[in-house]
Amino acid sequence: MNVNDTPLLFEKSVPGRCGAVLPKGDVPFDTPDGEIPQGGEPPAPLLRRDLPLPELDEASVVRHFTRLSHKNFSVDGEFYPLGSCTMKYNPRINEEAASFRGFRRSHPLTPDAHNQGNIALMYKLQEALKAITGFGASSLQGAAGAQGELAGMLMIRACHQSRGDTGRNRVLIPDSAHGTNPATCTMAGFTAETLPSGGDGGVDMGALREALRGEKARTLAALMITNPGTLGLFETNILEIIRLVHGAGGLVYGDGANMNALMGIVKPAELGFDVMHLNLHKTFSTPHGGGGPGAGALAAGEALADFLPGPVAVKAGGGQFALAAPKSSIGRLKAFNGNFSVLVRAYAYIRILGRRGIRRAAEYAVLNANYLRELVKDKYPAARGSERPCMHEFTASPDLGNGIHTVDIAKRLIDYGFHPPTIYFPLIVREALMVEPTETESKETLEAFASALNAIAEEAKTAPELLREAPHHTPVGRLDETAAARNPVLRSP
Ligand SMILES: *Cc1c(COP(=O)(O)O)cnc(C)c1O
Repeated sequence: MNVNDTPLLFEKSVPGRCGAVLPKGDVPFDTPDGEIPQGGEPPAPLLRRDLPLPELDEASVVRHFTRLSHKNFSVDGEFYPLGSCTMKYNPRINEEAASFRGFRRSHPLTPDAHNQGNIALMYKLQEALKAITGFGASSLQGAAGAQGELAGMLMIRACHQSRGDTGRNRVLIPDSAHGTNPATCTMAGFTAETLPSGGDGGVDMGALREALRGEKARTLAALMITNPGTLGLFETNILEIIRLVHGAGGLVYGDGANMNALMGIVKPAELGFDVMHLNLHKTFSTPHGGGGPGAGALAAGEALADFLPGPVAVKAGGGQFALAAPKSSIGRLKAFNGNFSVLVRAYAYIRILGRRGIRRAAEYAVLNANYLRELVKDKYPAARGSERPCMHEFTASPDLGNGIHTVDIAKRLIDYGFHPPTIYFPLIVREALMVEPTETESKETLEAFASALNAIAEEAKTAPELLREAPHHTPVGRLDETAAARNPVLRSP
C-alpha cells in the first residue's frame, strides 16, 4: 500500500461518543473570581469546551493503538540486528519485577525510612555494576547513555578544577566514536579533537603521541574511547593508550554503552579507565527504542568517585539504607531516583544470570557475531580486521554492484522480515552495514538472516530494481527521507 492510500487512521472521532466516566472531584478549585465550588465538574471558567479533543469509545481506542502496534517492528516479533544499539530480548521476568506493587506504586517523595526496599535495590545494583566494571563507586542517576557521558565529562572537569589545573580543555576522541561523544564533551565545555584510526581500525598510535607531545600535554583533559570500537574490534593497544594519556595528565573516559562483549570477562577499571557509563537499556536488557526511558549508569575509580552525580544509595548502619550525595558531587541529573523502573529490570536481569550467566551472555554475543560474520563474509566483508575475531558486532562494507547502496540492502531486508542493521555508521566506513545479533538469538535465526542477506546479494545481480524500490510489503513504502527531514509534516492538516 502506498502512503497516500493509508486510511486516515487518526480521524475516528464521533461527536458525543465517550469512553470515560469522570469521578466527582473532591478538591476545591481556586477560580479567578474566587469561587470555590465543592466537588463535581470544574468551574465553568476553567472548562474549555472548544478544545478539539477526540470523542471515542474505549474499544475503538484500544483497537486503534493495538492495530498501530502491529504495524510497528519490535524485538518481540522479529530479529533486530541493530549494530551498536543492542536490541536484545527483554526477559518477561524483568517486567514482572518492575510491576510489583511496592515498586510501581512507590511515591517519589516517600521518606528514606519508608522506602528501604527501593533504596536497597539501588544499592545492590550499584554493587553489581561495581563488580562487573571493577570500579569502586557507581551512580544510577543518568537517564540515557548520552546523559551518563555528559556527567562523566562534567566530573572530569570538576576533578581538574579541584586540582587547580584549569588549562585542560582538549578531549581526544577517535574518529570511529559514537556521535554522542563529541556532543557531550562539547556541552561540558571542552573542545573535541578527532583522533584518526589506523589501518587495523584501532587508534593511530602515531597520531595519539603527536596529540600529547610537549606543551600539548598540558591542555589535555581526557580521552573518550569505546572499546570494543564501533568497528566491532577490541582495541589491542588499550593499555598503552591509557598509559600515554595518564602520563600527559589526562583522564580516560570509557564509553561503556555496550558492555556485551566484555561483561564477566574484562573489568575496564583494571585496564586503567577512570570513569565509564553503562547503558542498562542495552547491555542489561531493559527495553529501548523510541526514545526511552533508559538508564545511563556511571561507574568511577578513585580519581573521580567523589564527583559522581547523586544522590546514590549508601548503607546507613543498623541494616538501613539511605540516599546521599558523593562528597564533591556534580549534582543531580534527574529528578528523584532516575528512571527507577528501568533499574528494577536491569537488577532482575543481573541477578537471574548471576556471575556465570553474565559471562556466558558475553561469550554468546561474541560467538553469534562471529558466526554471522562468517556466514556472509563473501558478499559482506568486514570493513577492517577480518583476519581476527570480532567482538559483539561487526561492520561490513558491501559492494553488491549494479549501483546498489547499503540503504537498498537495508530496505530489502524489511521485505524478508528483518529489521535493517545500523547503516552508514561508523562514518569512517564506506557504505557501512553494522550488525549486532546479541546473545539471545538462536542459530536458526542467524542462519535465516544470513540467507536473506545472501539472497539479496543475488537479487542485486539479477533484479536490482527489487532492491532500489524496497520495501514492497509494508504499510508504507520507500520514503523520501531527505524531504521528510527538511520538510517534516508532524500533524494531520
Ligand atoms: C547507544 C550508544 C550511546 C548513546 O546512548 P543513548 O542511551 O542513546 O544516549 C553512546 N555510545 C555508544 C557506543 C552507544 O552505542
